[in-house]
Amino acid sequence: MDFELMGRLSEADGVSSQEEGIAEIMKDEFRKRGLKVEVDNFGNVLAYKSISKNPLVIAAHMDEIGLMAKHIDKKGFIRFIKIGGIDDRSLVNQQVLVKTRKGLVPGVIGSKAPHVMKPDERKGLLEYGNLFIDVGAADKKEAAALGIEIGNTVTFPTKFMRLGKKMISGKALDDRIGCYVLLELARQLPKNTILVGTTQEEVSTFGKGAKIASYRLDPGAFIAVDVTIAGDHPEMKLEDAPNELSKGPSIVLTEWAGRGNIADARLVQKTMECARKNRIKFQVDVFEGGATDAASVHNMKGGVPSIALCVPTRYIHSTVGVAHIDDIENCSKLLKKLIGTI
Ligand SMILES: [Zn+2]
Repeated sequence: MDFELMGRLSEADGVSSQEEGIAEIMKDEFRKRGLKVEVDNFGNVLAYKSISKNPLVIAAHMDEIGLMAKHIDKKGFIRFIKIGGIDDRSLVNQQVLVKTRKGLVPGVIGSKAPHVMKPDERKGLLEYGNLFIDVGAADKKEAAALGIEIGNTVTFPTKFMRLGKKMISGKALDDRIGCYVLLELARQLPKNTILVGTTQEEVSTFGKGAKIASYRLDPGAFIAVDVTIAGDHPEMKLEDAPNELSKGPSIVLTEWAGRGNIADARLVQKTMECARKNRIKFQVDVFEGGATDAASVHNMKGGVPSIALCVPTRYIHSTVGVAHIDDIENCSKLLKKLIGTI
């Protein structure tokens, strides 16, 4: 695995609708791998060698969950809304980066001190409405001079790290792991296959960017590369989330209890056959909640055979995740073999 690249993808800024930071890396890396690159009206990054009618579209979303400034008070403290399904519990007293016109401004998320909380307050979970961002400004004017404005997006300075021999940790692994896999596929991309770094997946049940890109491309088939919840740690049961780290990428059979994509049966069979033939480990999953970009593409126009391949990842939708290198590499390997057969 190219840890330097995975680290850059993880640490890049790209809260939904503000994907420029991650999009720059994707464009640059696609070009380095000899692909033609386009950016559409919605910020999706498209890369291909040559395409004709009904291409195979392989997509990974570039955007990440984060926050957005909603109100700045007289003392320069910022109240915020959540962008995407970020877990409130992971926000308390975190360091943050506020994206402004003047660049990234560091700050911290502040909350009431436990010493002055009433006993029942201490038991309850702190919700984001009781939290605020402190950028160290003396007042509103000083915050404005730093570049702080309503509408600024906020992300986290979580450092990318290797854990143990075979694991990685970082922010936005959902779905920078998918972005990494696209860049692996870019090295030997067959004709009439197009790789798409999509925008605004996290802010809709069904990804906005993927829908827009696919409407124009009219795919013959669609594959979403994303992450799924791992159920293999002490506070999860495998009956709640059956996927485990190191057991291979997961073929998602059903998303959002059927309201998202129900994987095309022929594509599922082809993917399983391909994995078995090439001795690549895989798992299967059904999502009761949650969906991928395939949810917004499978039922457009005359219908698009769609499937999602997801890398099991711990602690997603917080400020940090953990994934296994073998699963990421097996996901790339399986897709490389599979795309020649579709
Ligand atoms: Zn995702």
